[in-house]
Amino acid sequence: AAKQQAGPSVVVYGERLDRQLRNRQKLLGTISRPGFEEYLSLAYQPIVDTKSSACVGIEALARWNSPGLESLGAAEFIATAESCGQMHEVTRAIVAKAVKECPAWESGGSLFLNISGRDLMVEESMDFLATTIVEAGCMPEHIVFEITETALINVEAAVSSMRRLGERGFRFALDDFGSGQSSLSRVHRLPIDVLKIDGAFIENIVDDPRCRAAVGTVLELARQMQVDCVVEGIESGEQSVHAARLGARLMQGYYFARPSSALDALQALSGMPGSNLAAGLPQLRVAG
Ligand code: C2E
Ligand code: MG
Ligand code: MG
Ligand code: MG
Repeated sequence: AAKQQAGPSVVVYGERLDRQLRNRQKLLGTISRPGFEEYLSLAYQPIVDTKSSACVGIEALARWNSPGLESLGAAEFIATAESCGQMHEVTRAIVAKAVKECPAWESGGSLFLNISGRDLMVEESMDFLATTIVEAGCMPEHIVFEITETALINVEAAVSSMRRLGERGFRFALDDFGSGQSSLSRVHRLPIDVLKIDGAFIENIVDDPRCRAAVGTVLELARQMQVDCVVEGIESGEQSVHAARLGARLMQGYYFARPSSALDALQALSGMPGSNLAAGLPQLRVAG
C-alpha cells in the first residue's frame, strides 16, 4: 500500500525505516562482539509502598549507548539481542552490573531484574545468574525476576524453572500484566509472587470508570491469588489516589521517581532527603 501512495509520506517512511535498519545493523555489529558491556548502562526506578511512603524496591532498566548510534531504549535493543542469539550474554552483563551498582538489599529493599523468556528456558543461564547474585553478597530473597508473558515460550519449562529458583528463595513477578498476551487462563498456573499491572491500564484511570473496574479486578485477582501487586506507570497524583482507592498499595511511575542513577535510587530506598520520592499521596481533587 505504501508503494501506491504518492507524496512525502512515502519518503518519510522510507527514511525512518532506513535509519532503523542502519541502527540495527550497527547494534548487531557491537552487541555480538566481546566487550559489548561497555555500551550497556542501567537506569534504576524505585517501587513505592504508598501506605508507608517508603521505597521498597528498585527495578533495573537497561540502556544501550554505542558510538554513532542514538541511545536505544530497552525494548529495542533487547529484541535485537534476542534475535541475534546474544540474550544470555546480555542478561549476564546486566545482572552483574546491577548487583554491583545497586545493592538494594543492603538497605532492606528488593532488586527487581527484568529477564528474557530465553533466559528462563535455559537452566545453566539461570544458574549462572543465581551464582552472580549470591556472590555479590545478596540473598535470593532480595531478588525479584520480572518476566513477561510474551516471553513464556514454553509454559511448562518456565514453570519448572521458576519452581527450581523459587525453592532457593528467588521471587518472580509477572510484568506488564493486562497488556498484549496476558491471559487469565495462564496467570494462575505461574508460580509468581508479584503481579505488575501494565501502565496502559493506568492512562485512563482518572476519567474512565470502566478502566477503574479493570484495575480493581486485577487488584482483586492478586489478592485472591495472594500475590503482591505493583501498579506501574503512575504519572500523576490523581492517578495514584485512584489506584489507592481501588486497593493498590505498591506503585511505580514518573510521579514517584523517574528511572535514574543507582545512587539516587538507593537514596530513595534509604529514605534520605533529596530523593524525589513523593511523600505520601496527595488529596484527591476529583469527585467520585
Ligand atoms: P518494563 O519492565 O515494564 O519497564 C517499565 C517501562 O516503563 C520502562 O521503560 C520505564 O522507563 C517506563 N516507565 C516507568 N515509569 C513510567 C511512567 O510513569 N510512565 C511511562 N510512560 N513510562 C514509565 P524502558 O526502560 O524503556 O523499558 C521497556 C521494557 O524493556 C521494560 O518494560 C522491560 O520489559 C524491558 N527491559 C528493560 N530492561 C530490561 C533488561 O535489563 N532485560 C530485559 N530482558 N528486558 C528489559
Ligand atoms: Mg519490568
Ligand atoms: Mg512493566
Ligand atoms: Mg513494559
